Amino acid sequence: MPIEIPGKCLVCLVGTSGSGKSTFGRKHFRPTEVLSSDFFRGLVCDDETDQSSTADAFACLVHVARARLRAGRLTVIDATNLRREDRQVWLDMARDFGLPVVAIVLDPGEEVCRARNAARPDRVSMPARVLTRQDWLLRRSLGQLRREGFLRVSYLEGEAAIGEASVALVRTCGEGDGG
Ligand code: GDP
Ligand code: MG
Repeated sequence: MPIEIPGKCLVCLVGTSGSGKSTFGRKHFRPTEVLSSDFFRGLVCDDETDQSSTADAFACLVHVARARLRAGRLTVIDATNLRREDRQVWLDMARDFGLPVVAIVLDPGEEVCRARNAARPDRVSMPARVLTRQDWLLRRSLGQLRREGFLRVSYLEGEAAIGEASVALVRTCGEGDGG
């Protein structure tokens, strides 16, 4: 069963560092549809891992996301989105434009994420406690997401489920493919 996504909507990826959000975004969406918090960090300071640039990077990301939604473009937020208040930003923004938000949760398991991060030069120095905390936030999110106002919450648990997932854009009547 493909994950059905309205042609005009905001997609909120949810997952810890190393859960495969960026890989999933590349696999299922156009490059310009995916707004990655890491990419915007790189844009503002040449270093995707520089946490000191997070606020500026996030402001830029929000700006571009608003512009895309104003234009009615499918937009995917590639950020951890592990806290309710992180997700609320996207729910509020989409509501401003009368657009739905769908959540796709990637959960290959904490040990898989830990092993992947350990194998990545840019993540290997991430303190172990960071992923521990992120995983705790993810588990907590699972019980909250369905009440937060998403049109749909797709929970992909395990590497196989993530790898086998497919995405189907559902165009509503009168909606072109937008190029
Ligand atoms: P993010 O931190 O959530 O954006 O995770 P990434 O998409 O950057 O993936 C982290 C690492 O896991 C990368 O080295 C990917 O190549 C790898 N990875 C991501 N998704 C998969 C997957 O479905 N299967 C396997 N085997 N590796 C994956
Ligand atoms: Mg990423």
